[in-house]
Amino acid sequence: MISMRNVDKHFGSLHVLRDINLEVPKGQVVIVVGPSGSGKSTLCRTINRLETIDSGEIAVDGVKLPEEGKALAKLRADVGMVFQQFNLFAHKTILDNVMLAPVKVRRVDKTAARARALELLDRVGIANQADKYPAQLSGGQQQRVAIARALAMSPKVMLFDEPTSALDPEMVSEVLEVMVGLAKDGMTMLVVTHEMGFARRAGNRVLFMADGQIVEDTEPESFFTAPKSDRARDFLGKIL
Ligand code: ADP
Ligand code: MG
Repeated sequence: MISMRNVDKHFGSLHVLRDINLEVPKGQVVIVVGPSGSGKSTLCRTINRLETIDSGEIAVDGVKLPEEGKALAKLRADVGMVFQQFNLFAHKTILDNVMLAPVKVRRVDKTAARARALELLDRVGIANQADKYPAQLSGGQQQRVAIARALAMSPKVMLFDEPTSALDPEMVSEVLEVMVGLAKDGMTMLVVTHEMGFARRAGNRVLFMADGQIVEDTEPESFFTAPKSDRARDFLGKIL
């Protein structure tokens, strides 16, 4: 579903992604961990072309990432992304936030888009907040809206970049529960998170990144209990 071959990326003289090779099969849940600045966010952002790459190749569901234009817009719609900051439209209702892209980008009929949006809001447990504005919701609720909004485009892949890092602790689990549900439903997911309970419950695989490289690629249980590299041991010592 996601394929990265020999991907390299620099920011000026900084080599942020170094020869990344990654194949993610359909339905797999990949957890990405690593120290701050190791390239985790950049990796996510290259997959839906929020960042360009210097060399190599990225494909989603067998389609090579196009440079620009309509094909790129379509591919972006196939890759849902949820960020640390929820980025909801403040002046639009929750329902409108979820309906907007399907109507504007996918040209879905408004009645159908509304029905689907309500269904998704129900799935993330906030259908009763549909007519409110983002500021009236808690952080955990806003992040669940952001997930519903991404799902409204019927993406093939969902990328999550530290989706619970900006939340108050008591709101973390309500967001993780929604993500566990998605994983169980077979969504292909790449999740940057240090939530180990989630990684063990929902993850099929852990990538440990350091200095723009994938240093370990292993099963969650063996990564957390017996990391192979010194860098991973050092990292786990700091977050545990
Ligand atoms: P992580 O998500 O693992 O913390 P990032 O992918 O955000 O790491 O960043 C990797 C490195 O690239 C960091 O050193 C960061 O400062 C740098 N970086 C990220 N985005 C940019 C940018 N737009 N311009 C210049 N440097 C950047
Ligand atoms: Mg990051």
